Amino acid sequence: MTKEELVVHAARTEGSVSGPAIQAAGPTTTCTSTTHARTPAPTALLPPRAGNNRAARRERWLRANAETVASQGVKVWVKARGRVPRFFAYASQRHPICVLKTEFTDDDATVLVGFGPDHTQLDVTSVAAVQAAVDAMRPGLEVLEVAAHDWMKDPLSRTTWMTHRPGQLTRDLAGLQQPAGVVHFASSDNASLWGGFVDGAIESGLREARRVAAELAPAG
Ligand SMILES: Cc1cc2nc3c(=O)[nH]c(=O)nc-3n(C[C@H](O)[C@H](O)[C@H](O)COP(=O)(O)OP(=O)(O)OC[C@H]3O[C@@H](n4cnc5c(N)ncnc54)[C@H](O)[C@@H]3O)c2cc1C
Repeated sequence: MTKEELVVHAARTEGSVSGPAIQAAGPTTTCTSTTHARTPAPTALLPPRAGNNRAARRERWLRANAETVASQGVKVWVKARGRVPRFFAYASQRHPICVLKTEFTDDDATVLVGFGPDHTQLDVTSVAAVQAAVDAMRPGLEVLEVAAHDWMKDPLSRTTWMTHRPGQLTRDLAGLQQPAGVVHFASSDNASLWGGFVDGAIESGLREARRVAAELAPAG
């Protein structure tokens, strides 16, 4: 795979690492600074439905944006020499890459995906830096190429995948799911279960599509 193909492949498959796979590590997954349980709160524990007037909606979305997300991580695609037997490795948050797994294997090369907890600890543009981080996780691999983007450093992003900060779900989730008239908000950011993952984008899309269908259904 050429570098261009690797980048295109990575872009097409961004999100291919399933949330559940990461989630499955439970308490040992110290990679992200995840601070909330992703299981939705029982209905009885949800706050009373917050006001849904224009000012309240605006305040909620602006506040969520200003607070930014809790995660500070990086994701990196790694091309390593040769056919690497499949593996899935975890380490502590003290490692620049703390989740590493094989994704695509060929006879002459293997593409792996890695996640780091702190973007300042890994220069994802440096093959040498990624090689050192990979060595700590899985010695014996030769890193040929890397493809990544440090979204935390990007002035147009300044953030990365969504991980709620403590209290945000309890305070705002119900309100963030409210439509504004005929405008509905489907986003991984306001998903009930898999917020921060592609699964959450799908979940919220289904939720809002059902609401719209119900609103358009003939009365009676
Ligand atoms: C580095 C990184 C790695 C990730 N890795 C994984 C992973 O391995 N597995 C996983 O499941 N998830 C992963 N995620 C999370 C996943 O990518 C997101 O949860 C998912 O893409 C969110 O989908 P969405 O449709 O809610 O929002 P988005 O994909 O963000 O789509 C929103 C769209 O709206 C557009 N937009 C914004 N404002 C406006 C406007 N005013 N007018 C018009 N358009 C607008 C944006 O340009 C964007 O195209 C990762 C995220 C990042 C940042």
